[in-house]
Amino acid sequence: MLKLNAVSAQYNILTGYVKAVDKVDFEVKANEIFGIAGESGCGKSTLLKVMYDLISYPLEISQGSVEIHSRSNDQKIYRNGEINKSWWKVISYVPQGAMHVMNPVKKVKTQFFDSISKYHGKQNKKQLEQDIIQYLKELELPPEVLKAYPHQLSGGMRQRVLIALATFLRPDIVLADEPTTALDVIVQRGILTMLSQVQKKMKNSMVIVSHDMGVHYQITNRMGIMYAGQMIEIGPTEQIFENPKHPYTKMLINALPRIGDNSQKEGIPGTPPSLHHPPAGCRFAQRCAFATDVCRTIEPLRTKVGDEHYASCHLLQDAYI
Ligand code: SF4
Repeated sequence: MLKLNAVSAQYNILTGYVKAVDKVDFEVKANEIFGIAGESGCGKSTLLKVMYDLISYPLEISQGSVEIHSRSNDQKIYRNGEINKSWWKVISYVPQGAMHVMNPVKKVKTQFFDSISKYHGKQNKKQLEQDIIQYLKELELPPEVLKAYPHQLSGGMRQRVLIALATFLRPDIVLADEPTTALDVIVQRGILTMLSQVQKKMKNSMVIVSHDMGVHYQITNRMGIMYAGQMIEIGPTEQIFENPKHPYTKMLINALPRIGDNSQKEGIPGTPPSLHHPPAGCRFAQRCAFATDVCRTIEPLRTKVGDEHYASCHLLQDAYI
């Protein structure tokens, strides 16, 4: 459905390049929710922009490609540079920060009309409004939200409206950037349930970016862990949580609180390397208790460590036979 072929992307700044995404290679299958996890600044949101073809200066793709195999539009293949022609109908995006992305001086109805009317066939405005109301009801949202300005809605309701807007034309792929950030846990739960229900109903593909591992545990089928611009582990979510292989993934999962576990939780020592001048070898070496001279000089290759489960660490070479 969505394929990334060794994609690298960088920000062109005055003093050089910030290599935010480095040779990222994976695919998102039809009818699945794929999660991308990692700490702030690891390149998750940039990767989402690359997938959405939202590329403008100073961001540029320096190598690799992105492909979308559309199921709804005569199986057409869209590649980076033309994916933006398929926005809303084939791929859509739920951006981070619902308050900041909605126009504060336009009612929700106008924002629906502005965004999707030109993609909605030849129906007149009345018909489009009826379809929007019908869709909001399907998502258990009150149609009255259409008459509201964004600031009149709660944070959770704004996020639901954005999800409704992004999924109204039933796109094959929906990308969501930190969809639960800044919401309380009850509202978070509601948003995740909504996303999951939409995906089950449309049987499309979703990509959820979140720094919150709990979000991935609850909603994703497969997931990738990013560190310093690279995807260092990828696999079925259950396997990643039950049997993480990369030392960084293990530390992330060990840091999660669990019911009944009163042990002291520890953060991951140190900070990620600069993406302006990333180090040679394994980018996690400065923080890894198992680092050797080989780790500091040679970049680890992706190794198969289980069914559809891969990780990039020298400790894992030949781990799966
Ligand atoms: Fe640690 Fe070396 Fe594995 Fe990197 S390659 S995670 S430094 S053991």
